[in-house]
Amino acid sequence: MTETSVEKVNLLGLTLPKMEAFCLSIGEKKFRGAQLVKWIHQQGVTDFDQMTNLSKSFRDQLKSIAEVRPPRVTFQGDSTDGTRKWLMEVDGGSKIETVYIPDGDRGTLCVSSQVGCSLDCSFCSTGKQGFNKNLTAAEIIGQVFLAAKSFGLPVKDSQKRSVTNVVMMGMGEPLLNFEPVVDAMALMLEDQAYCLSKRRVTLSTSGVVPNLNELAKVTDVALAVSLHAPNDALRNELVPINRKYPIAVLFDSIRNYLDGLSDNRSVTFEYTMLKGVNDSDALAHELSALAKTIRCKINLIPFNPFPGTDYEVSSRNRIYAFQRILLADGHIVTVRKTRGDDIDAACGQLAGQVADKTKRSARYIQLQDVTAQLDQVPH
Ligand code: SAH
Ligand code: SF4
Repeated sequence: MTETSVEKVNLLGLTLPKMEAFCLSIGEKKFRGAQLVKWIHQQGVTDFDQMTNLSKSFRDQLKSIAEVRPPRVTFQGDSTDGTRKWLMEVDGGSKIETVYIPDGDRGTLCVSSQVGCSLDCSFCSTGKQGFNKNLTAAEIIGQVFLAAKSFGLPVKDSQKRSVTNVVMMGMGEPLLNFEPVVDAMALMLEDQAYCLSKRRVTLSTSGVVPNLNELAKVTDVALAVSLHAPNDALRNELVPINRKYPIAVLFDSIRNYLDGLSDNRSVTFEYTMLKGVNDSDALAHELSALAKTIRCKINLIPFNPFPGTDYEVSSRNRIYAFQRILLADGHIVTVRKTRGDDIDAACGQLAGQVADKTKRSARYIQLQDVTAQLDQVPH
């Protein structure tokens, strides 16, 4: 880490109220906060000298105590289908991934909230790598900042906007990095910054119930919940946090979140299709009955394999059969398209480079080694 990054306030991650408070704290007028937020997020300016409506003395003061510092892009890859992936280095040297997925007049950015993840879902490559650190608000919104800049501003004009949707579905569990995630999402919604609609910013969680209850008090973004199984026995196996917050408790918390919204939006359940594990007709019927107890949509995600996993993706026919059962019961069910295959950019499947602090990846690699050794035993 450089000396400046320790000493200087990174203005990139400050919400409008925090930017106003910062301005007041250094003897400037409150309205300078909105000017700074606009320069940074709508004009993409990081150099204080280019902020021409600020006085020279204010700019000099800013240069000595503040900075606008996004993560450093170390790799950018473009898929033939228009998907773009960035590898970005954050403070401490770890790498995170961010993916932009264009689809008609939509451009969805899949954003990371942590380096790695501590929750260890059995089919998730991020989880298997362990946990390294929480991203700062600047590192989270910095991904949106860099993506918007990379396609050319203006963010203000919704017709010409490149990033129209943001999903917190990259690396990490957003609810375990609460304040930075909430601040970054506030900037996504902020009129002076990215002015995205609350329907177009989605937080995805595996079900950290107390934090979801807190989230309901501070935001009204769209909610996605990683369900993956319709009963506790199977979900305990796939999503270990279910042992702490089982489905009934989780559903109460989701209902509470939906009740707090001013419109009748539903939750989106993500259900990763794992061959022979959670994709049977019986489980589709069980899921259908469970889904009838809440306002929801269901998104079936073909499992994305990664080195060392024993899981396999369900066949296309199985996924469609599963979908038909749910559709026949009147549910809204989509199957996620696989995008950016040629650059390894499936959303929710981002690898990054995690220097694991939980020692889990070491255990996992050991396991892989044992499997590899077994494979070498002559049969
Ligand atoms: N931690 C949050 C958000 C990040 S994961 C969560 O779990 O919701 C985003 C989505 O990708 C989740 O639904 C997750 O279950 C799914 N996912 C993880 N690994 C996957 C894989 N290998 N194949 C397909 N989907 C996966
Ligand atoms: Fe973490 Fe989400 Fe992966 Fe589970 S699926 S390990 S919560 S990133």
